[in-house]
Amino acid sequence: MTATAARMQSLRAAIKNAGLDGWYVGREDMFQGEEVPPSEERLAFISGFTGSAGYGVILDDAAALFSDGRYTLQMANQSDPAVWSTHTLPEASLASWLTEAGADGKRIGVDPSLVTVAGYKRLEKACRQAGATLLAQSENPIDAVWGIGRPQRGAARPFRMPDRVAGQTMAEKLAVLDKKLADSGADAVVISRVDAVNWLVNIRGNDLANTPVNLVFALYHRENGLLILGDVASLAPVMEGDLANEAAIVALEQFDALIDPRAGYGEGAVIQFEPASLPQALYAPLAACGAKLVEAACPVTVMKAQKNSAECAGTRRAHIEDGAVMVRFLHWLSVGGGNGMAESDIAAHLLSLRKASPHFIASSFDTICGSGPNGAIVHYRAIAGQDSVLQTDSLLLVDSGAHYNDGTTDITRTVAIGTPDAQMRRAFTAVLRAHIAVALARFPAGTTGQQIDSLARAPMWSLGLDYAHGTGHGVGHVLQVHEGPASISKRGTEALLPGMLLSNEPGCYQAGAWGIRTETLVIVTAPDDKGFSGFETVTLCPIDRNLIDVDLLLPTERDWLNAYHAEVMEKLAPELAGETVCLDWLTAACAPV
Ligand code: ZN
Ligand code: ZN
Repeated sequence: MTATAARMQSLRAAIKNAGLDGWYVGREDMFQGEEVPPSEERLAFISGFTGSAGYGVILDDAAALFSDGRYTLQMANQSDPAVWSTHTLPEASLASWLTEAGADGKRIGVDPSLVTVAGYKRLEKACRQAGATLLAQSENPIDAVWGIGRPQRGAARPFRMPDRVAGQTMAEKLAVLDKKLADSGADAVVISRVDAVNWLVNIRGNDLANTPVNLVFALYHRENGLLILGDVASLAPVMEGDLANEAAIVALEQFDALIDPRAGYGEGAVIQFEPASLPQALYAPLAACGAKLVEAACPVTVMKAQKNSAECAGTRRAHIEDGAVMVRFLHWLSVGGGNGMAESDIAAHLLSLRKASPHFIASSFDTICGSGPNGAIVHYRAIAGQDSVLQTDSLLLVDSGAHYNDGTTDITRTVAIGTPDAQMRRAFTAVLRAHIAVALARFPAGTTGQQIDSLARAPMWSLGLDYAHGTGHGVGHVLQVHEGPASISKRGTEALLPGMLLSNEPGCYQAGAWGIRTETLVIVTAPDDKGFSGFETVTLCPIDRNLIDVDLLLPTERDWLNAYHAEVMEKLAPELAGETVCLDWLTAACAPV
């Protein structure tokens, strides 16, 4: 029997002991973030599948894994086919699988702390459609099986984000939140997004590898103030000043119950909560406190998305530091530093350069380093031992980023290794034109990301080219590298507001051959006297001139490229003072076309 099969046998016994016929396991932990600590990777533990999204359902005689198209191959590769069937969403559906698996009349359990209020509703509906019943069960049978070998949590090390870097004190942020609640007629709000709480109280931490946050929830009440629910032992020393400050009325409690019994919640209070992030397990105590519950998007999300002037200044400074790192890396590649090396070693070299940089905190995600055909796999991860060696006469796509103490970066550059062919140059130039279309866009108030997405695609569409991902996502300030509410994509229905930090990352992919993507971060500018905004490009790093077919650029596009490279040169040269070979490389890379 394989290890997976043995694990599944124990799990099925535990499910039966709990009086259930099946179990649902999602990839999320209680905090519902994109990243979860290793000790919370239950789906990977039980199935082997390590994708960033997906879920599994285990019945007595069948088990199924579900994820989206990014992970179709990975699910099949990582799971034992004798135990698991794999299904791609949205073509497959949980309800139909349950029906086919004969789940009619069966009782399926779920851990209510690991699923949101909205997710629980969807799951309940799918079970009902198949004739099954969903039951919330807080004793998790996977945890019962996962004893030896379960990773331990690392030591929590919260730290303060200084007010000068945050740009606003906690008290100032709470005053804005208070006004928003007053305007919407609410007395209180549950803040069930981890990044929103960390931003609101100006703290950061290391509870996750690539997202510098503390895993906390909070409750803000207009009369009783802010209650933070988290690990008291580590947070109290860092928040000492706030906890002592009577004016801000901040309290900190160990995270076991949502409602503070002293806070006087109850009949008549109107409490906002967000179904898409509040765990189902916390809904019941909230509903029991006698308040009127109102569903609403978290009001902190949009406050956080519109970066203030200090956050913008920090972001710009962090991009100078990161730009210098990228120049060191690209220079190293240009002199054959990566020749004969595996993709994972090239990514490790880039990380070592970032780690040597003075204000580096952590990578903002695992680097994507795809040589030749691997560049065409959009979410490719080079795994040591399973990855390719750098290909000659091919393209290398490197998507990476970092959190510095005052800003977050996310950059993709595609470079020619050896001599690129005409098709590569044509596609690269089309992607560059898409990139420039965003960089130069001017738009009136109320314009959505959807609209900008079409502007980016137009130069690609005119050549019969397209890319199967969004043009851009929101980026946090030393928080999540992917944040809402806005995005530049087909689903981007939110308006782009001044101060929002977004990526601009069109691409072009030739399956089995190469991938191209050019990504910079941009800040939405304040409206001009006619009420129009645009984008300020903050990423500073040369775009490979060897891959550009200048004849395919319009004069305005050529002007943008030359002005961008002049700015990169001007801002990075002082940072690279004394590093002669890198400076010489940068000078050549930024020469006008
Ligand atoms: Zn990226
Ligand atoms: Zn990105």
